[in-house]
Amino acid sequence: MTSFGARSDTGRIRSGNEDRYLIKPPLFAVADGMGGAAAGETASTAALDALTEGYERQGIADAGALGGLLAEANEMVLQKARADPQLSGMGTTCTALWLDRDHAHVAHVGDSRAYRYRAGELQQLTSDHTLVAHLVREGRLTPEEAAVDPNRNILSRALGVAPAVEVDLLSEELRPGDRFLLCSDGLTVMVSPEEIEKTLGDGGDPQGVAERLVNMANEAGGQDNITVVIVDVPEPRAAAAGNGRRGGWAGRIGATILLLALVAAALAVLGAPLLGGAGPSASPSVAPSATASASPSTTPVATPTRSPLPTGSAGGPSATPLPTAPPTDRTQVTPDPRRPTPTPSPSPTRFAP
Ligand code: CA
Repeated sequence: MTSFGARSDTGRIRSGNEDRYLIKPPLFAVADGMGGAAAGETASTAALDALTEGYERQGIADAGALGGLLAEANEMVLQKARADPQLSGMGTTCTALWLDRDHAHVAHVGDSRAYRYRAGELQQLTSDHTLVAHLVREGRLTPEEAAVDPNRNILSRALGVAPAVEVDLLSEELRPGDRFLLCSDGLTVMVSPEEIEKTLGDGGDPQGVAERLVNMANEAGGQDNITVVIVDVPEPRAAAAGNGRRGGWAGRIGATILLLALVAAALAVLGAPLLGGAGPSASPSVAPSATASASPSTTPVATPTRSPLPTGSAGGPSATPLPTAPPTDRTQVTPDPRRPTPTPSPSPTRFAP
């Protein structure tokens, strides 16, 4: 049984949070909406609602089915955008992780990311669907240039902007101890892969790790909404002893304490006639803590699924005061290069053909 943790935060610059996450084990997802003010959150919420609805209705048989649910989410966001002129142009990223018995499946659109941490190494499983990422893949920009490019937030793919959407799918075998991270770009823009790798490797329960990563992004400036979902695949021994990574330790410690308590009780019974009954006081004070320490090893339940997040007016580009090329506000740009881009239009010569 997996354990997990999640946290979403507005960050230090924006006034509203357009990120959403979904925790519905063994299905997990992150969505980062765009379109300004209410539109961004409407898009990310609609996408994850559609994902939830589809999952509850028909389940997921394979990676293709997971991709199909993202296509349904695309349709849902598009319908809402078309029904309300104020929501026109909205869209959202969506990165979903679904675990079956022995595989992880990822379906992905946009620039949120899925990572896997295994044996001390962090690996990014998804590719960003941004213009700068395309340019990096074509060798026209270095990763360093892309990281500070003013157009780095322009998406080349998103849910809800066109009737058809191409969804990236990948599946890979699970290994005991795998730790997965789903996150919005509010984390990856502020925190380096090396720092993320170190934090995931420091261990600790997934909820604590999710909170630490969000804090790190805020300490680095918190220029965007930050959302982190951590999913842990248990070690075999931990799975047998309880749930989650700490189950094994808690189970062993609990068993040791229980054993000590039994020995103390036996000594007390044997020793009672000799010692005048002084012994038994040791056992009741120890035994309860044994059960107490064993039971919390079950999954720390994350905050409720996409609990209502603070809303507010859109944090416009004027709200980003940092001089060092802050990320452009994605609400200002078109998510689809096939559509005309308004203000920070990337130079046509920089488009991949
Ligand atoms: Ca974002």
